[in-house]
Amino acid sequence: MSCLICRIIAGEIPSSVVYQDDRLFAFRDINPQAPLHVLVVPKAHVASLNDLTASHDGIVGEMVRRAAALAAEEGFAESGFRTVFNCNAAAGQTVFHVHLHVLAGRSFTWPPG
Ligand code: AMP
Ligand code: ZN
Repeated sequence: MSCLICRIIAGEIPSSVVYQDDRLFAFRDINPQAPLHVLVVPKAHVASLNDLTASHDGIVGEMVRRAAALAAEEGFAESGFRTVFNCNAAAGQTVFHVHLHVLAGRSFTWPPG
């Protein structure tokens, strides 16, 4: 198994886990870009948004709702938070297992860099 995130989910690589259930896993980013920086991932491997099919609609919805729940648990529902999916090189995707970044605790600029 070569995928970094699959190895984190399997416990082969240590991580700071903030949530998991039978389909989802969430852990703190090792190089946080904000006071809260969590990655929400499906347990089943999907390389990028380009690989999503209608069969993934449910899990993507669960990822987005979990992102909001985690931000709320850490006190950022009202002040706000940023969610990001990077897809492929131009967007800066470096890890090829779909992950939703959840960032909060500072102000974010728009447009993004
Ligand atoms: P992306 O650039 O969108 O593919 O995001 C990949 C993210 O994974 C980056 O924010 C990295 O800091 C993060 N990352 C890489 N290795 C680890 C790790 N071992 N544990 C937690 N986060 C990681
Ligand atoms: Zn994977």
